[in-house]
Amino acid sequence: MNERDSEMISSQLQCAGYELTDNEKIADVVILNTCSVREQAEIKALGKAGYLARRKRINPNFKIGIVGCMAENFGEKLFKLNGAIDFVIGPKRLHELVNVLESNGQSLHIGDPQRQHFSHDFDRKLGKNKCTAFLSIMHGCNMRCTYCVVPKTRGNEQYRPMEDIVGEAEFLAGNGIREITLLGQIVNNYGGRLMPMIDGKTPFVQLLERLNVLPGIERIRYMSPHPQNFSDDLILAHKNLSKLCPSVHLPIQSGSNRILAAMRRPYTSDRILTIVAKLRKAIPSVGISTDIIVGYPGETEKDFEETVALFDIAKFNMAFIFKYSPREGTRSAELVDDVEESEKERRNQILLQRVQKASLRYHQQFLGKTMEVLVEGHARRGTDMMFGWTPNHCKVLFKASENDIGKISPVQIDSSTTTILSGTVMKNAQGKSLVQR
Ligand code: SAH
Ligand code: SF4
Repeated sequence: MNERDSEMISSQLQCAGYELTDNEKIADVVILNTCSVREQAEIKALGKAGYLARRKRINPNFKIGIVGCMAENFGEKLFKLNGAIDFVIGPKRLHELVNVLESNGQSLHIGDPQRQHFSHDFDRKLGKNKCTAFLSIMHGCNMRCTYCVVPKTRGNEQYRPMEDIVGEAEFLAGNGIREITLLGQIVNNYGGRLMPMIDGKTPFVQLLERLNVLPGIERIRYMSPHPQNFSDDLILAHKNLSKLCPSVHLPIQSGSNRILAAMRRPYTSDRILTIVAKLRKAIPSVGISTDIIVGYPGETEKDFEETVALFDIAKFNMAFIFKYSPREGTRSAELVDDVEESEKERRNQILLQRVQKASLRYHQQFLGKTMEVLVEGHARRGTDMMFGWTPNHCKVLFKASENDIGKISPVQIDSSTTTILSGTVMKNAQGKSLVQR
């Protein structure tokens, strides 16, 4: 989501006549788009702002902006922590950026805006040779998971009209984009109760169906769904919609029903196993990954073991493991953060090892097989080593040329590690890739 917001920031500024540079040292303005989900991300952003402040002593016209969730979370405090910061803009007010840049002095823009905006209010400037894009379909979150700062920083759910989303997808398809990833904090809650069910299908599935028939778009992904709303129509959509990729990132957070209840996650480990089983039955090749938090207040060894067991039984092929980080303003921040840092680290390491083994096992089943890969770009600048992703979200390295970017090529898998597959593009007698779309 932050990546999409950063793209919107840069598009907005380019439309106003600013030029994007990849050399921070010559920039007149540096904007840090920040994340508040864990403390570590905030510490990093503050460190970076401190480093940038030194440049301001040499060039007083140089501007530093902090935007995104940390701007919302810290507000005015940021100016006290670093007097060199010029402006602070929260995620709901990013559309004010151009005006803010043109004014002088320190300024703070957080809270709800006078005029509601969505990131697509601005022309999208797509980078050169881009064939994949994020597409925000909603903002905010109505859940109140006890540990999570997102509802505080991004507010309640708001859905983009379906027409606008389809229109943006058409624009993307017309500009070389072959794969779209729909974004939302609970993406499968799109439409909520504001949009009707039609023929027993949720608004999210209705949207998927409309996107599935768009010429030019070859692949559709989405991030992140919530287990509570993972309804049967979505599982059926995976089976029936040819462009919907067989890959699901389904954050579980914990395998202990006690901890799930404490976190206010409204499901149990059984519900996770049911969804996973239904998904695998509908699409045997599906890749399923997850997010897990270790060391939530009160998490005992038994709770943790239940999480490890759920990870193993569900056979997730990948997971992001997070050590619990208390966030000011959340409910769990009022609890004692009683799992020692060393214990959080131990649990983290145990799960990481499990994840690595599971990923390797998952990857190894593709050795010798030919997989369809969307060629995305150079793996290393200036070489013919390219990278791309398979429909079930495995990253693949292979030799190809720049002309292949945006094409779906068949790649025979020769080797694998925990994180990546390597292979060879299969060509016909004319030297063309066998699959071209
Ligand atoms: N909306 C998504 C999650 C968005 S935040 C969902 O509900 O699934 C991305 C991930 O960050 C979460 O899945 C969670 O695993 C992690 N996370 C959020 N708050 C955290 C905290 N306070 N400490 C550690 N990890 C956290
Ligand atoms: Fe945060 Fe929970 Fe909303 Fe996800 S569902 S963004 S974890 S409050």
